[in-house]
Amino acid sequence: MIDFKATKALFQLPDGMIYLDGNSLGPLPKATSDRVARTINDEWGEMLITGWNKAGWMGLPSGIGDRIARLIGAEPGHVTMGDTLSIKVYQALASAMEMNAPRKVILSDTGNFPSDLYMAAGLCNTLGDGYELRTVAPEAVDEALSEEIAVLMLTEVDYRTGRMHDMKALTKKAQALGILCVWDLAHSAGALPVDLSGCNADFAVGCTYKYLNSGPGGPAFIYVAPRHIERARPALSGWLGHAAPFAFDLEYRPGEGIERMRVGTPPILQLAALDASMDIWDTVEMDDIRAQSIALCDRFIAGVEATCPDLRLASPRDGTRRGSQVSFHFEHGYAAMQAVIARGVIGDFRAPDIMRFGFTPLYIDEGDVDAAISIIKDVMENRLWDRPEYKVQNRVT
Ligand SMILES: *Cc1c(COP(=O)(O)O)cnc(C)c1O
Repeated sequence: MIDFKATKALFQLPDGMIYLDGNSLGPLPKATSDRVARTINDEWGEMLITGWNKAGWMGLPSGIGDRIARLIGAEPGHVTMGDTLSIKVYQALASAMEMNAPRKVILSDTGNFPSDLYMAAGLCNTLGDGYELRTVAPEAVDEALSEEIAVLMLTEVDYRTGRMHDMKALTKKAQALGILCVWDLAHSAGALPVDLSGCNADFAVGCTYKYLNSGPGGPAFIYVAPRHIERARPALSGWLGHAAPFAFDLEYRPGEGIERMRVGTPPILQLAALDASMDIWDTVEMDDIRAQSIALCDRFIAGVEATCPDLRLASPRDGTRRGSQVSFHFEHGYAAMQAVIARGVIGDFRAPDIMRFGFTPLYIDEGDVDAAISIIKDVMENRLWDRPEYKVQNRVT
């Protein structure tokens, strides 16, 4: 079992703050500043361009990809890093659509993160006539699967409610109908055990700045199943996905394996930050994280429901069907969240009425959960949200 007291000490957490938003932006590991400073001063500063070879910068995307692979049940050598998640969604979808021609429909659900839907709709527009993004309610995905669908694109854990899709069952049913599956693990990687290989997933993508603590704007990851990779044509065919980037050929030839899913120059400073947080992730088992996460979430739900009758649970009550977050509906959720934040409990708000709290066992413990409950109770019981200063909308909610 993980010593969660010890892991908590590895993170920089401001005094007086209970950070229940690691599902949106993970906090800073204490070791990250030095690691990034070394990359800046000793590598960039001293080695300059020779850092690409001497400091191994060029190998960072696949090296870190292998460490993330362990957390998501991917085969080693089949995950690489780079770009933002929106770009990786596009890339995976474009490859999958091409592999499943002449089918023209992408199926997703209305609970998906809008950027995924926007990227899919944009791709359909580019592909042209007859291409279509079809969305159905999350509960209706199963029955909407048919031989007309080319690609099923789902986010395993709903960003608003934490509701989980059954990845294994949906993948199996979709594949039986000849559909390829693209799974978005933005709220899964580092939150719960994922078994891409065991689920026979086709493509997967995800984020590192949420649960994996790579810092704002940290690079995304992409996975392509070994059985597909040599056939997957990278629609974003950048020079670093080329078989021989430094041959400077005029014609594109896709690289070996997952390397072809690289696009351009990797973000070395951000990868250095991720390298430092992966030093923590390398030492933990996702089953331990999951057990503790469910316990923390259950404790939070029980405490809030016992003290705040105006908050209505938006997340599944069954911990095994929920990601690592708990959400509540409240009509004045935005103002209430601002009032809670002003008292040092950091969660966030998702339109139209969701107050969202993330639970991340590496640095959140039972004491934090209890303290958060009592602050939320104070805000609700005393209608502290009903003040003008909490109703001003910020750019980022
Ligand atoms: C956070 C998140 C994104 C964000 O994409 P970026 O391009 O990294 O900003 C996309 N999709 C899902 C499902 C997310 O949760």
